[in-house]
Amino acid sequence: MTVREELLVLREKIDSCQRCDLYKLANHSVPGEGNVETKIVFVGEAPGFYEDAQGRPFVGNAGKLLNLLLTKVGLVREDVFITNVIKHRPPENRDPNPGEVAACTFWLEQQLAAISPKVLVTLGKWSLNYFLPTKKISQIHGVPTKVKNMVVLPMYHPAAALRNLKIARELEGDFLKNKDILQNPNTAGDLGGRSEEGGQQSLF
Ligand code: SF4
Repeated sequence: MTVREELLVLREKIDSCQRCDLYKLANHSVPGEGNVETKIVFVGEAPGFYEDAQGRPFVGNAGKLLNLLLTKVGLVREDVFITNVIKHRPPENRDPNPGEVAACTFWLEQQLAAISPKVLVTLGKWSLNYFLPTKKISQIHGVPTKVKNMVVLPMYHPAAALRNLKIARELEGDFLKNKDILQNPNTAGDLGGRSEEGGQQSLF
């Protein structure tokens, strides 16, 4: 099976998943989308209102900010694969509970096994803590860290940036600092050669 076929099979399975109760109140599953040949995967927390309505990840205001941040490092969202730890929207956007995370990462693990990313960008603490359980986002954001065969690049969640200007500036800075890694994921393993901001106009 090709990567595309594997992801399509997973998409169908996620759409009919009942491993936890979150599917009961959701309108759509949000398995993820993007370039199946990519070596960069972005993993957020869970679908929100707009994502649940459309069945697509990061399509609300946080998604618009993510799109802008991608352009700052020379990428568009079609260059990467975007998904979440949780595939159905928790009611009222509440935090997922540990049982839901344990149930749903069953799917995330299979998506990652199909894509084999070299760089995995975690967006927010839930995604970070799945891959690096002992780390705090406030301490490790923007710092690439090797985990097994990939580099985990922790970032603040764009939704947090929309609520807090300081976080917004730090998030933009983290993207710019890691421009080389994001543009060259196949050589990210050496963690070297990170570019600096270089006089680009700030978003914030
Ligand atoms: S949130 Fe995940 S584990 Fe729960 S029903 Fe949806 S796909 Fe299944």
